[in-house]
Amino acid sequence: MIDTDSLLPWQRQDWRQLAAYIARQRVPQALLLTGNKGLGIEVLAHQFALALLCSEPLSDGLGCGHCHSCQLIKAHTHPDLMHITPDEPGKAITIGKIRDSLVKLSLKPQYDNYRVVIINPADQLNTAAANAFLKFLEEPGERTVLLLLTDRPGKLPATIRSRCQKLAVASPDEKVVIQWLQAQNITDDAEVLLRLAQGAPLQVLEYAQNDTLPLRQKCFEQWQAVADHQLHPVMVAEEWCKHSPSLLLFWVVGWVTDLVKCIYRTPRPGLHNPDLFHFLQNRAQGLELKLLYSLYDVVVLNRSRLDTQLNKQLMFEEVLIHWSTLNRQ
Ligand SMILES: [Zn+2]
Repeated sequence: MIDTDSLLPWQRQDWRQLAAYIARQRVPQALLLTGNKGLGIEVLAHQFALALLCSEPLSDGLGCGHCHSCQLIKAHTHPDLMHITPDEPGKAITIGKIRDSLVKLSLKPQYDNYRVVIINPADQLNTAAANAFLKFLEEPGERTVLLLLTDRPGKLPATIRSRCQKLAVASPDEKVVIQWLQAQNITDDAEVLLRLAQGAPLQVLEYAQNDTLPLRQKCFEQWQAVADHQLHPVMVAEEWCKHSPSLLLFWVVGWVTDLVKCIYRTPRPGLHNPDLFHFLQNRAQGLELKLLYSLYDVVVLNRSRLDTQLNKQLMFEEVLIHWSTLNRQ
């Protein structure tokens, strides 16, 4: 379990920027916090809310953790801290939800301090909810701070994005993360996991806890077997449907990209999957660059449709059949 009560070690620099807003009394009314999944932007937002509401902040601007306000936050009962989230992960934030929140926000804050609203993930606001929210964003009222969190800022309407100040959290230094992962008892395969997680430490932790590497290995072997015409694409598609489609497509994009890189003789460390280098290099020898690019387009197109009511079985079949024909002897 990650301790959300303190900043994560790679967040110090971003924290200084947030603390400076408070110190200079120039807190933005709407702040868009963006960063890849697994960087812990929720933790950063939580700490910012704590600092804004705390009555005795510490010298580095962080909340004290002990005052009445901090204790109410810990107990999830602070009346001036509001979270707007979907009812279920992956579902939309509906207009009903926004309307309920707006009713509460029309009242004055209970305490003589800021009021903080955290919308997470902000890209899940559906169109009607986003429109209703936009009106509020134009005039949020005094001392109200809106924190919008997302790992996909491009999905937010431009009208919302343009009204927010932005803080983009970058992937942390690999050394800092490896050290942190060691402290979490992740020593085996930390580097491979970190690459798969695109440098996001919390994502590495989740992968390690869910045995993601063995699953990736199994899927990669199936992918190879499809290429060797030992397994039928439809059967493998059926298998793959049991897992997260976005994760599977992410891996496939990585394998296809690495095959292209192998054709261009990119050395091992330059690959997304350095641990699979020899397999990929061997495989790349029999493949045509032009056809690999066409497969890449198919995979990326399907990935962009993941949010729709796409039939996952058909999607994997399309990708795998395309892959199988590429390898026809
Ligand atoms: Zn406090």
